[in-house]
Amino acid sequence: MKKEEGSMQIPNLVVGAGITGATIARRIAEDFGQPVTVIDVREHIGGNCHSEFDSQTGIEYHCYGTHIFHTTSGRVWDFIRRFSEFNSYRHKVLTTYNGRAYHMPVNLQTINLFFGLQLRPYEVADFIRRKSAEENITEPRNLEEKAISLIGRELYEAFVKGYTLKQWETDPKNLSADIISRLPFRHTHECDYFTCPYQGLPLEGYDRLFENMLDHELITVKLGQDYFSLRDTLPADCRVFYTGPIDRFFDYRHGELSWRSLRFDYETLDVPDYQGTSVMNYADVEVPYTRIHEYRHLHPERDNMSGRTLICREYSRKWKQGDEPYYPVNTDADREKLALYEKEAEAVSNVYFAGRLGQYRYYDMDKAVLAALELCDGL
Ligand code: UDP
Repeated sequence: MKKEEGSMQIPNLVVGAGITGATIARRIAEDFGQPVTVIDVREHIGGNCHSEFDSQTGIEYHCYGTHIFHTTSGRVWDFIRRFSEFNSYRHKVLTTYNGRAYHMPVNLQTINLFFGLQLRPYEVADFIRRKSAEENITEPRNLEEKAISLIGRELYEAFVKGYTLKQWETDPKNLSADIISRLPFRHTHECDYFTCPYQGLPLEGYDRLFENMLDHELITVKLGQDYFSLRDTLPADCRVFYTGPIDRFFDYRHGELSWRSLRFDYETLDVPDYQGTSVMNYADVEVPYTRIHEYRHLHPERDNMSGRTLICREYSRKWKQGDEPYYPVNTDADREKLALYEKEAEAVSNVYFAGRLGQYRYYDMDKAVLAALELCDGL
């Protein structure tokens, strides 16, 4: 990867050095044999996957929240593993409700512990059916109805309602059912968060993965470079792959799309292991943070020589201009605005909109890679 000041007389410009931008840049350089410049307004590559190594403990921490690479796509897995080996970590999440830790997603342990029962796997479906039948929901129209139809009202109120209110600051009745469809519901003691066959963390850290993706003689990377301060200087035939926020591209002329932003509060503790798992969710609405990350657990293959641990409390908040956007809220009003921006985007020649911000989609990393690979298939 070349890092240099160069002229903007380039055939391809990728705006954003995150997972979408890095995938597109690699394919343009490698498969199309064309020079490509990648710019990012931040001073690091990797977008929100960026990580650093803590100077006190030596623990790698994900600067924008825990990122677990997981996919069911052989194509994505084959592509990404060309740039890094992955460890064998399989993600597990617990959730604390009313002072007690339960498995998340809701599984047999969660149900039995919560209701004080000893149900067997073959009894769960009936049990839950009876619970959700009390509500008479035929066609779930929103997150609340979807969750109740899946797990019944009591489990919904304990494990979903408070967490969702903190995460989205929106009544779950006004949120899309799709959000909760991300969470599986299990009739067994299976407690892996993802059932994907392929998952793990880059052995040498996320930034090494991105360095390797961008390490190609035809790729030039320029950090701390704002697209909007140079767009008027670009030649008309430059192809732009824009992975920033779509509404920002059009100067918010149809209004802002709504996002959730996050705040991370780090603490180093003089114990080797604080919570025994990498992510502990907090379901009670009274606890102000949504979860605590403990990064050392993501790399069980690494020694924790310091005997200390690094934790991070995650707080969700409403996005305003200047904050990092993380989660698209995707209300009805957002979808209307998005349709207007998409129409405008179609009319702009030579600009491709991609990624979570560019398409206003709640993409996981693997979905972002797949969409970027497919975008390049169509070039
Ligand atoms: N969710 C919840 N309780 C939990 C975890 C998740 O109610 O303990 C809901 C919440 O609405 C959240 C959604 O499920 O926004 C998706 O959660 P996921 O863990 O997929 O979110 P991410 O890891 O992307 O932050």
